[in-house]
Amino acid sequence: MNIDFTKNTDGLVPAVIQDVSTKNVLMLGYMNQEAFKKTQQTGKVTFFSRSKKRLWTKGEESGNFLNLVEMKLDCDNDTLLIQAEPLGPTCHTGTDTCWAEENTVSYGFLSKLENVITNRVENADVADSYVARLFQKGINKLAQKVGEEAVEVVIEAKDNNDELFLNESADLLFHYLMLLQAKGYRLNDVVNVLRSREK
Ligand code: AMP
Ligand code: ZN
Ligand code: ZN
Ligand code: ZN
Repeated sequence: MNIDFTKNTDGLVPAVIQDVSTKNVLMLGYMNQEAFKKTQQTGKVTFFSRSKKRLWTKGEESGNFLNLVEMKLDCDNDTLLIQAEPLGPTCHTGTDTCWAEENTVSYGFLSKLENVITNRVENADVADSYVARLFQKGINKLAQKVGEEAVEVVIEAKDNNDELFLNESADLLFHYLMLLQAKGYRLNDVVNVLRSREK
């Protein structure tokens, strides 16, 4: 890897640390040539600490090491993206990331939708919320709704109307997310099962 250590007068390049599985940014550190080599050799992410003015292996005191998975160089060779597996909270304040965020997996819009469902169930009035009303009717009713939407998907799959097929697919997914929550689970629990089947 041809890293340009000369761009900054102090010979340091910024290294963005990303959790390889959740894709969340955990912290930012700086590396000189030596820190980069040590990271490669030990498989533990090692920086040059500007405050300690020495090589610093993240986790050397706390045990919260960052296990190296992959290092990537940016378009003009002056910034590293390091994908790692954190062995504990990455920030010394005890939070998962240095921006006080939780390092949880996100499925983008679907995760947002899951949170909306939780919110409606916990806070919304049944008079103004379809989700709250459906939950109030209980698991059997919800499961039945999922069954109905699934049948509608099957019916539309046989037609040549893609718009209806996509709409029924959305209905199915939405009701399925609700059923999962009613059973005490989330999309990630199902993804974990799928992952465990990966060869
Ligand atoms: P550790 O490397 O986790 O054993 O932490 C040793 C020391 O490094 C801490 O007491 C902090 O001073 C510093 N430190 C640890 N984690 C971070 C971080 N994510 N960003 C900046 N400084 C840190
Ligand atoms: Zn760059
Ligand atoms: Zn921090
Ligand atoms: Zn439908």
